[in-house]
Amino acid sequence: MTDARQLYQEVILDHNKKPRNYGVLADANRSAEGHNPLCGDHISLSLRVEHDAIRDIAFQGETCAICKASASMMTVAVKGKNVGDAGSLIQEFRDMATGKLDTQTQAHHLGRLNVFAGVRELPTRVKCAVLPWHTLNAAFHNQPSATTESGEF
Ligand code: ZN
Repeated sequence: MTDARQLYQEVILDHNKKPRNYGVLADANRSAEGHNPLCGDHISLSLRVEHDAIRDIAFQGETCAICKASASMMTVAVKGKNVGDAGSLIQEFRDMATGKLDTQTQAHHLGRLNVFAGVRELPTRVKCAVLPWHTLNAAFHNQPSATTESGEF
């Protein structure tokens, strides 16, 4: 097993055992639901956005391990960021997961999220990893729901 593969598995396990920012925000002013019919993933995101910054964010739902780890890490990554920077991260994560961004040779701001670079080798899991990011994008654009089957990626 390669180091990258081992790190990936450790991160997935850790975030499934202890998902970060799990739940619903009582004082949310943005929210969206996300569905991935191929796997059966369903997540709910709630955010509090003030002065263009993400003050707080939480997620919950019925998901597979990859989707839950991706959602958990996403909430950690975007909390405190402004909406524009979070939007750039959404794009970079989608590009990494679909293979458009090669994180080994191209500049990026993904940090630890780079452990998901390996999902591009697993086409059926790409949508699991991207669903939380797609749902965050919907919340920013005041769309109540997102699905991985919309053809946007
Ligand atoms: Zn899934």
